[in-house]
Amino acid sequence: GAFTGVEALLRWRHPVRGVVMPDDFIPALEASGLIVPVGLWVLQEACRQGAAWHSQGHSFAVSVNISVKQLEQDRIVDDVRSALLASGFDPGKLILEITETSLMSDVAATIPRLTALKELGVHLAIDDFGTGYSSLAYLRQFPIDILKIDRSFVSGIVDTSEAAALIHTLVQLGKVLGLETIAEGVESDEQRRQLIDEKVDTGQGFLFARPLEAKAVDQLLRDWHGEPRLA
Ligand code: MN
Repeated sequence: GAFTGVEALLRWRHPVRGVVMPDDFIPALEASGLIVPVGLWVLQEACRQGAAWHSQGHSFAVSVNISVKQLEQDRIVDDVRSALLASGFDPGKLILEITETSLMSDVAATIPRLTALKELGVHLAIDDFGTGYSSLAYLRQFPIDILKIDRSFVSGIVDTSEAAALIHTLVQLGKVLGLETIAEGVESDEQRRQLIDEKVDTGQGFLFARPLEAKAVDQLLRDWHGEPRLA
């Protein structure tokens, strides 16, 4: 029932279109290369906000999604280092999330970068795990700490035995590799109970909280009693 962390999510407040969701603008950022400066800004903001929460006595982790375009450049290591230094945020509480597909895009160049990031003291997570094409041989070589099990497995866990069996297998894979597991997209208490039975370490999703502004996290924590209420 412990509150363990938050993930930084982007919304774009457009003067005409209103709030634009990431699926509608991240692809354009990726295609134009603007994801690199925007990604750096997200990293800096997340570290700054994380440090502010910690200065108020909290100690939860902050996750930041890293794009393949950021991972392709050596400067990602300096960017993370400078965001940590500028904010004073505890590196051990920063989780960098990288999708399975990004990890596999250029393994030879990615492994040394991930190793350099790990040396900063941050934790690394594979995002949306189970949807890409991981080579299990490579998976062992990546200095990864956390497997985030994709929401598509979680959504079927109650209704289909296949989804339940796949979750079971992914959790076992995580255990064999010594990784913490996080289930994404948890929306019902029944899913939560089944994930606990499967010994998934942590869950995230609407059951616990909908995406909210940083300043609303205080209220969420005040209302937190160890058991999620249906959001
Ligand atoms: Mn993520």
